[in-house]
Amino acid sequence: MAAKLLMGKEIADKIKVELKAEVEQLKLKHGVGPKLVSVAVGDNSASAVYVKSQAKIAEALGIGFELREFSGSSSEHEIIEAIKKMNHDKEVSAMIIQMPLPKQIDAKKVIAAMSPIKDAEGMHPENMGKVVFGGAKIAPCTPSACMELIKAAEINIYGMEAVVVGHSEIVGKPLALMLLEKFATTTVCHIATGERGALPEHVKRAEVLIVAVGKAGIVKGEWIKEGAVVIDVGINRVGDKIVGDVEFEAASQRASHITPVPGGVGPLTVTMLMRNVVEAYKIQHS
Ligand code: NAD
Repeated sequence: MAAKLLMGKEIADKIKVELKAEVEQLKLKHGVGPKLVSVAVGDNSASAVYVKSQAKIAEALGIGFELREFSGSSSEHEIIEAIKKMNHDKEVSAMIIQMPLPKQIDAKKVIAAMSPIKDAEGMHPENMGKVVFGGAKIAPCTPSACMELIKAAEINIYGMEAVVVGHSEIVGKPLALMLLEKFATTTVCHIATGERGALPEHVKRAEVLIVAVGKAGIVKGEWIKEGAVVIDVGINRVGDKIVGDVEFEAASQRASHITPVPGGVGPLTVTMLMRNVVEAYKIQHS
């Protein structure tokens, strides 16, 4: 069976049409529309690409965008003070802190300094906490993108076996909570699962499989259960190509649905970021 491709871009385009219309309405109602500030500390070519795509999408949706750049030698105190100022700046609806931060700055402290209602990435401890209770208005972007992909596959995951590979704060952990909210029977695998050699046995059970590790081809095509929904979050550069964490060709012979890399989760993640900006603005104006 050749799997149906879950194209994040197509789903993102639909959501963007709705967001654009909503931003227009909000501008009519409140005069000034939402604005995202992207905070970059030091030079980082990887985040520079992400910042460009943030600026482009924000512009297309009518969301204001500003890049605030700080020197790579800035202190933690300086960055936290700048964030606190933005917390009180009515023109700033939401912020995103580009990662990684220089080593003298503790990323967790910087994220916690943000007002939770201005946290575009949904990474503030308060927003993370709300994911536990379900129905979080501002939620982590990549896990939200994965849930949108499952929705697009029109699969009711109630009672299904879901396996998440990767337990980072930004993807695996909040995603597991979102899957639980939909009553999937959820297993989370991580480095220790891999070290124990237990990854194949867990992956083979998965009716919904989401992989976020960052190691090309760590999940073998032959492990995929017939008819599984496979969401590959991984982004790996191999030579001049970008590939995911799942062996795509072999997996797509067994899965019912699969995300390509690139073109799957990535385009939706930045759209979820913009949805959070609009939510943040709405909370501030309610
Ligand atoms: P991370 O390094 O923070 O976490 C990696 C996870 O993989 C950890 O939980 C670790 O325990 C687990 N792991 C490592 N080796 C393993 C093994 N052998 N077996 C099982 N688990 C193992 O990474 P992250 O920030 O969560 O990102 C993961 C990947 O997803 C990266 O490739 C990253 O570029 C990509 N990513 C993509 C998007 C997107 O929008 N498409 C967003 C975020 C991250």
